[in-house]
Amino acid sequence: MAEENKSSLEPLAALCKRRGFIYHSSEIYGGIPGFWDYGPLGSEFKRNVKDAWWQFTVRGREDVAGLDATIIMHPKIWKASGHLDTFADPMTMCKECKKLMRADQIKDIYEEQKKKPQPKIAGADFFCPYCGGELTEPKPFNLMFKTIVGPIEDPSNVAYLRPETAQAIFAQFTNVLSTSRQQVPFGIAQMGKSFRNEVTPRNYTFRSREFEQMELEFFIRPDEAIEILYGHVVTLADNPDLDGEVQQDWGWEVWHKYWVEQRKKFLNAVGLPSERFVEYWQKPDELAHYARACVDIEYDFPFGRQELEGIAARSDFDLSQHQKHSGEPQSVFDDPLKQAAKKMDEQARAAFIEKVQKDWVSRGKDAEEAKKFCEDLFNGRYIPHVIEPSAGVDRLMLALLCEAYEEQKLTDDKGKEDIRTVLHFSPKVAPIKVAVFPLIKKDEATYKIARELFNKLRKKVNCFWDESGQIGRRYRRQDEAGTPWCITVDPQTVEDGTFTVRDRDSMQQERLTYEQFLVKMTEALEF
Ligand code: ATP
Repeated sequence: MAEENKSSLEPLAALCKRRGFIYHSSEIYGGIPGFWDYGPLGSEFKRNVKDAWWQFTVRGREDVAGLDATIIMHPKIWKASGHLDTFADPMTMCKECKKLMRADQIKDIYEEQKKKPQPKIAGADFFCPYCGGELTEPKPFNLMFKTIVGPIEDPSNVAYLRPETAQAIFAQFTNVLSTSRQQVPFGIAQMGKSFRNEVTPRNYTFRSREFEQMELEFFIRPDEAIEILYGHVVTLADNPDLDGEVQQDWGWEVWHKYWVEQRKKFLNAVGLPSERFVEYWQKPDELAHYARACVDIEYDFPFGRQELEGIAARSDFDLSQHQKHSGEPQSVFDDPLKQAAKKMDEQARAAFIEKVQKDWVSRGKDAEEAKKFCEDLFNGRYIPHVIEPSAGVDRLMLALLCEAYEEQKLTDDKGKEDIRTVLHFSPKVAPIKVAVFPLIKKDEATYKIARELFNKLRKKVNCFWDESGQIGRRYRRQDEAGTPWCITVDPQTVEDGTFTVRDRDSMQQERLTYEQFLVKMTEALEF
């Protein structure tokens, strides 16, 4: 991390430690690189980010079902997915200082090191960026953590901690399909821990070895099935309305862009304005061989512009792989498709097959396979294609923290300058929604009302009680925690039931009744 960048992440990291958002894992033993713990405020914040994603992606829709699968799965899953053979980073080692590093990150490390006093740097990527020593040939290093299932340490008992949550969705596709009353197009969502033995975990929680993901696999009909059903396939060139209801005649390209837009809406809703991130459309030579498109949503972190999440159109690759490796059919039966195909005469079918073959061959695929695929379609069968929006919980939390953090220079009435540290979280993800203070601790009447109010509110949302110190100090403590509202109960509350509600961002106060405050809070928390 460059010196100036480091300094811009450092105050945030210090706040996160001081206020109980993020700690080094196993800190009393010196920590363990790439592992982080969330403290009292961090764990609430994380829960809110995940709940927001679940509400937006699963509960708020009729066409997505949830899944909560195990971390350790049958090792054949990782063979089928390609992770066993290809989920590797190129690793190199310095022959002098013995430091391990990712060969593809040497340039970045070199740039970072250049800004530090390093007289021995040789000045080229092929030398160690730390000491200028000679590097070994890069070797692929598989990122999956291995473990043994059962008591016998035998290669046949090797299993892996999942490096992504997505594969369980594919492995349980047929079960979810038959038990959820969903039909293609529909999605399956899952969130949970993933593990990657990253060669160089870096940039605070950005690249960790244990982290959480929130992934959706949205299954769609192949475009050829839509052609049979509707006689056309809607593409982006048709300017579809991506803000309205989803449409059955959308092709993969439209579904992909639709999910990019949905993800952007979600990021806006949890506190990242659109102007703070960019869509990076991967170029054809950057795409995985099976992928038809992939968009990275990138955020300007203090250490540079980096991927926040990705949305990939993965064709039918994953389910086809699992069908091949497990021997279990992964195709679906689509009755409307069969009925539509029945209406095609021999000539129309032959023309359709010819068209599909031409298209497949132009994309380097086999003509015979294309024919078989068309014949399956005529029988209402196909393996669904998939759009995959895949996000990291921790990475999003880091982006939200960076976005929310501000050191404000304030000048009071007497001209005295002061710095206010504030986290401008969206109320939807703020760890504490409301703090309740009795203005005067010793005043029995106000204290009692404040306590009753606190007890009522904490049944609804996470609240914080603070009765110590001046009110100004109490506000500042909540500003650092990102609490959107502070309620102060004072003698007037005893008379008319109203209390002051202080807004974190404007620092303005207004008097509200309990009912008025509930309306205000509920509106701000709703999606
Ligand atoms: P990167 O290129 O940054 O390693 P990736 O392209 O391998 O990421 P995916 O496999 O697509 O990432 O994972 C989806 C999402 O999971 C990422 O966009 C990111 O938000 C999150 N993620 C992946 N690896 C890590 C990690 N080591 N630490 C934290 N989050 C991660």
